[in-house]
Amino acid sequence: MGFVDSYLRGLGVTFKTLTQKTVTVQYPHEKETPPVRARGVIAMLEENCTVCMLCARECPDWCIYIEGHNDLAPPRREGGKPRKANILDRFDIDYALCMYCGICVEVCPFDALFWSPEYEYSETNIAELLHDKERLDDWVHTVPEAPGLEAGAEAKKGAK
Ligand code: SF4
Ligand code: SF4
Repeated sequence: MGFVDSYLRGLGVTFKTLTQKTVTVQYPHEKETPPVRARGVIAMLEENCTVCMLCARECPDWCIYIEGHNDLAPPRREGGKPRKANILDRFDIDYALCMYCGICVEVCPFDALFWSPEYEYSETNIAELLHDKERLDDWVHTVPEAPGLEAGAEAKKGAK
């Protein structure tokens, strides 16, 4: 194939591409809305966490750091004994290590972890990617309502 042939073929590809619809988005000037189930960041609802440590044990990257202590909580009924309760002192996720596998969200038996589609939390200092429980709790309001069940799926027993 001669030079002219190659040149014309190259021009053909250029013009064909020019007339096609663009698929890239000029972020950050344009932003797409992520799908409802997008894995952007993990939100943590502190009041639901029982400090069971299951998420930290199952995390393949060991990037969840939890500390807690035992304390006495008021009895459930009048005249009852005070209950032993686990109090959460520290719950950090290091997003510099997290691989967004979702295992922690799946295994949490107390619905304390949720995916939020938020993704704009990049940092110039890698240490700032360690989100503490206050920061993780701030993401909770960005968690979308769970989408409806797919046709033929059955609701989990006890789920609202
Ligand atoms: S998404 Fe996966 S890697 Fe990230 S904190 Fe959860 S279990 Fe660990
Ligand atoms: S699995 Fe759930 S309840 Fe247990 S420590 Fe992790 S977030 Fe808390």
